Amino acid sequence: MKHTYDLIIIGAGLSSLMFLNQYLKKTSGQDILLLEQKNIINSDQTFCAWEGPGLTNISKDFQLKPKKIWNKIVLNNLNDEIKRDIEPYSYVCFDGKETLETLLSTCKEKITVIKNEKVLLLSYEDNVHNVTTENGVHYGMLIVDSRNNIKKHEIKSSLVQQAFVGNEIELTHDRFNSDEITLMSFSQREDEIEFVYILPFSKKRALIETTVFSTSPKLTDIEGRHQKFLKKYEPYKKIRQEKAIIPMAVVSPDEERKILKIGISAGMVRASSGYSMRRIANWSTKLGPHQLDESSVSSFRYYSSKWLNWLDKILLNVIIKYPNKGPFLFMMLFKRAKMPSLIRFLSDKPSAADLINILFCMPKRLMLKGLVKKEND
Ligand SMILES: Cc1cc2nc3c(=O)[nH]c(=O)nc-3n(C[C@H](O)[C@H](O)[C@H](O)COP(=O)(O)OP(=O)(O)OC[C@H]3O[C@@H](n4cnc5c(N)ncnc54)[C@H](O)[C@@H]3O)c2cc1C
Repeated sequence: MKHTYDLIIIGAGLSSLMFLNQYLKKTSGQDILLLEQKNIINSDQTFCAWEGPGLTNISKDFQLKPKKIWNKIVLNNLNDEIKRDIEPYSYVCFDGKETLETLLSTCKEKITVIKNEKVLLLSYEDNVHNVTTENGVHYGMLIVDSRNNIKKHEIKSSLVQQAFVGNEIELTHDRFNSDEITLMSFSQREDEIEFVYILPFSKKRALIETTVFSTSPKLTDIEGRHQKFLKKYEPYKKIRQEKAIIPMAVVSPDEERKILKIGISAGMVRASSGYSMRRIANWSTKLGPHQLDESSVSSFRYYSSKWLNWLDKILLNVIIKYPNKGPFLFMMLFKRAKMPSLIRFLSDKPSAADLINILFCMPKRLMLKGLVKKEND
């Protein structure tokens, strides 16, 4: 007789493991299978998020140890520099490998985990999902799918992508101010937004990333400019590298019966920033204590705020239509906005007053142009 799981979770990345961490604290008794295509569950990423009053405490709620916490941020463009103290808020960085390993350790005794198991096909027969992998077929009543496979019709905004190449480097001499992060140090480009992001872990060690927001980013070109930028820190030792292209889009996932999409293709990446850890944390910590099954699946679906989506779509339109104005837009926002309002906005938890503050701080004419483009889409 074939074994049928209550839940089959595809992918053991950030969204699946943060979900399982919270879900298994509140429910028990289900037969759960987790399938991961890679032979190890780890990540070369660093996950960063804003923390502070009114926000879910990721470190505490998920038992994660931050790699480093900062309370000061810097942005610069040409000769203009903004330095802001963000206390009582902070910018927290978690090591990717440690994060996924810790999350997995909190749930692996309660579920079945199979690595090196790439899912090739899903089909549905006699009320059961058949999950075909490279090694066979698994059967499940309900699927939780974290694969990054956004379909075209699910994208509800113009598609901008965030591409970045980053290196964690170690110098022989003190160079970095380890108390403050450089959130955005803009380069002057006509057809895309480009900035360098610096996370100093110590005076000698930092993650330095060259990031581009563009509709057609070219990773090899970015890598070339990134390596050129790094030359100013020579001599240095390369500790590790991370590079990726992440969609920056408002996504409305299909409501497929008996399939719960999570992660990137469920719209859990914030369109205007490319961040997802905060969204995943907000969603997974507020799930109720009921079991996930056919009758409850709709209450588990992730829906992003219409207001945030509306604002993000305008921002994305501005990025597409006037990329050379991007630095001006972000600089103005970080210069004028109240930091708590801006951080709650970036963390999907703005109050009505925060949204009004953000709207007033944005360059009006530019935003109106973004709005006009949106209506013509
Ligand atoms: C380098 C990098 C840095 C980032 N930094 C930040 C940050 O600082 N802050 C932030 O909030 N966000 C950040 N992000 C964005 C976001 O947090 C991550 O992309 C996050 O990993 C998304 O979680 P996920 O579960 O949707 O996808 P993933 O973590 O990619 O998980 C999906 C999993 O599914 C597996 N899989 C895929 N297809 C199959 C298949 N067919 N069969 C079986 N398994 C499969 C994959 O191997 C993977 O393990 C970063 C992203 C990257 C790439």
